[in-house]
Amino acid sequence: MSSEKKLRAKPIIKQVYANLQHTIEKKQLKPCLVIIILGNDPAAVYYMNNLRKKGAKIGIEVKIEKLDTSISQEALISKIDQFNSNSEIHGIMLQKPLPKHIDEVEIVMKIAPDKDVDGFHPLNMGKLVLNQDSLLPSTPAAVLKILDFYNIKTEGKNVVILGRSAIVGKPLANLLLRKDSPGNATVTVCHSRTQHLANITSQADILVAAIGKANFVKKEMIKQEAIIIDVGVNQIEDAETGYKYLGDVDYNDCFEKAAKITPVPGGVGSVTTSMLLSNVVKAALK
Ligand code: NAP
Repeated sequence: MSSEKKLRAKPIIKQVYANLQHTIEKKQLKPCLVIIILGNDPAAVYYMNNLRKKGAKIGIEVKIEKLDTSISQEALISKIDQFNSNSEIHGIMLQKPLPKHIDEVEIVMKIAPDKDVDGFHPLNMGKLVLNQDSLLPSTPAAVLKILDFYNIKTEGKNVVILGRSAIVGKPLANLLLRKDSPGNATVTVCHSRTQHLANITSQADILVAAIGKANFVKKEMIKQEAIIIDVGVNQIEDAETGYKYLGDVDYNDCFEKAAKITPVPGGVGSVTTSMLLSNVVKAALK
């Protein structure tokens, strides 16, 4: 295990991107991801442009398909069908937020499972639960990657996950339960109705926070020498810079007590992006 307490994304993504670039060149791939966005949400546009730049650096083309927020469900499905049948497109991603009239569940079902680089299609989720090869959702994959890279063993450990969302908590719980490495953990998933939360979190050898509440986890809630993985990204107003990002864990408060801790930013989020681009390459290889 690295002696550094801060579990930084930088060395991980350096390795991931180098490996991806090597695979792309060796196999002469032309991986292409299309991101569908409805409207012009500034945070989403910023994220997509960032992804495009990152992809370009290693040889992944990221196309942005901007559609009007008024597009009908049927027209959106027909767009997705076009991308599904285009062999030059390997990954399809639907950028949030979506307008209220769009039925997200139906749309996700329409993305071809082998192009579903978000890993949200029920077929990919089912395979994840059954420990079959699939496109994994990027954030849970990022948590596994961090644990693996820093040689943090999960076997037999008490892992507590804060949050039961379909994109983070639930898939991550299933991944950590697998008879695999990382995996073989004893997993507890907490949510807004959990009682005596601090009693549970303070038993965790590894605590993963994914609830969307800035600085929620304090030192009184964690075990001495716990491993803390902070998935949260909360935009907070800041007098000097306009805004800043905080995790779900109070980093400064928990730092001394924790054995290892991921920062925000520079932790799970950056690794998540690299996992998404890894999925595009994986899809292109098929
Ligand atoms: P979400 O869909 O809103 O789910 C939040 C979960 O937290 C729910 O299960 C909710 O319980 C639970 N929760 C809320 N308040 C709680 C409390 N006081 N005590 C215990 N549980 C509580 O959120 P998400 O999409 O999973 O995202 C969670 C956080 O991760 C956000 O900050 C988001 O920005 C961040 N995120 C980061 C990445 C990344 O790559 N770094 C990716 C995705 C999300 P109920 O189910 O009972 O409502």
